[in-house]
Amino acid sequence: MNNAHTYFRPDSVGQAIRLAGERAPDFRFIAGGTDAMVNRFQGTDASSCLIDLTGIAEMKQIRLSADRMLIGALITLDELERATEVRAEAPLLAEAARAVATPVIRRTATLAGNLLCENRCIFYNQSEWWREAVGYCLKCNGDICIATGGKGGCFSKFASDMAVALISLGASVRLADKNGEQTVPLEDLYTGDGVQPRRLDPTAVLHTIEVPLGRGFRSVLRKLRRRQSLEFSSLTSAVTTDRHGSVRIALGGVDPRPILVTGTTADDPHTLIAKTVKKARIIDNDTYPRLYRKEMIGVFLQQSFEELG
Ligand SMILES: Cc1cc2nc3c(=O)[nH]c(=O)nc-3n(C[C@H](O)[C@H](O)[C@H](O)COP(=O)(O)OP(=O)(O)OC[C@H]3O[C@@H](n4cnc5c(N)ncnc54)[C@H](O)[C@@H]3O)c2cc1C
Repeated sequence: MNNAHTYFRPDSVGQAIRLAGERAPDFRFIAGGTDAMVNRFQGTDASSCLIDLTGIAEMKQIRLSADRMLIGALITLDELERATEVRAEAPLLAEAARAVATPVIRRTATLAGNLLCENRCIFYNQSEWWREAVGYCLKCNGDICIATGGKGGCFSKFASDMAVALISLGASVRLADKNGEQTVPLEDLYTGDGVQPRRLDPTAVLHTIEVPLGRGFRSVLRKLRRRQSLEFSSLTSAVTTDRHGSVRIALGGVDPRPILVTGTTADDPHTLIAKTVKKARIIDNDTYPRLYRKEMIGVFLQQSFEELG
C-alpha cells in the first residue's frame, strides 16, 4: 500500500493549480477519493502528494441561467440525484446518478471524479501480486494486452455512467490549468487510448459542468450490470432527442472512451444503431462475454428508440 507523503487542501482553484504546478507530475488531485484511493490501495497509483479539492467552496454549487445549468464539479452524485433543479431540468442526470455504485459511495463520489475516474479491465483491477504473476499488462508497464494477447493497444473500458448521460445531453466542461481557462465538449476530454484515457494538462482542475437547457430534451438510459447495485457497468447507453430533431446516442463500458453517434429524428434508427455498434471496440475484458455486450447495444438502443417513439 502507498501512503501519501504530502497532503494539501487548497481553498481556491488558483491555489490548487499552483500547488499542482509545483508538484507535477508526482501528485494526484482527489475529491471523494472513491476511485483515487482504491487505485492507491491496488498499487496502480504511487503519487507521493495528494491535493484534496474538497475545500474549494465555489465548486459545490448548482446554478441555473436562461439556457444552461452550471454544476459545480464537487457536487456529489447523491446531491445530484436529489437536487430539485436537476430533477426538473435534466432528470436523466438524476437517473444516471442513482444508477452508480451504492448509496454510501454516491454520498462521497463527486461528479468530476466520476467523469475522470480510471478506465477498468478485469486484468488490470487486480492486486499487485496478481498483476505481477501474469506478467503485467500494457496499462501497468507490461508489454502485452492480456485480454487480446496483442501489443497494439490497451482497450480498458470507459467506466463513467455520468459521462454517458452528459454527453447525450451535449454537455461541456470548464477547465482551469496553468495556461488559463477553457470550455470543451465533454467527449473531447477522452482520447480512446486505454493507457492514457484523458486529454488533460497535468495541472487541470475540472471546476464546472455545463448542461444546455430549454431544448425539449427527451432521454432514455439503459445499464447492463451483474447486480443492480455496487457493480460497475458492462454497458451503459443514453439516447437523447430534442425539439429541433437532433439525436445523440452515447455509450459507455464498451470502448476505452465514450462512444458518441449523432443524427436526426429523420434518420433510420437501424442505421444509427448499426453505426453505434460498429464504433464500439469491445473486447473480452469484462465479466460478460464480448459478443453478448455487443448484442446488447442493439437491444438497448432499439428499446430506447421505441420508448422515445
Ligand atoms: C464499488 C464501486 C462501484 C462503482 N460503480 C460505478 C458505476 O456503476 N458507475 C460509475 O459510473 N461509476 C462507478 N464507480 C466509480 C465511482 O463513481 C467513482 O469512483 C467516483 O465517481 C469518483 O468520484 P470521486 O469524487 O471519489 O473521485 P476521486 O477518486 O477523488 O478522483 C477520481 C479521479 O478524478 C481526478 N479528479 C477528481 N476531481 C477532479 C477535478 N475536479 N479536477 C481534476 N481532476 C479531478 C482525480 O485526480 C482522480 O484521478 C464505482 C466505484 C466503486 C468503488
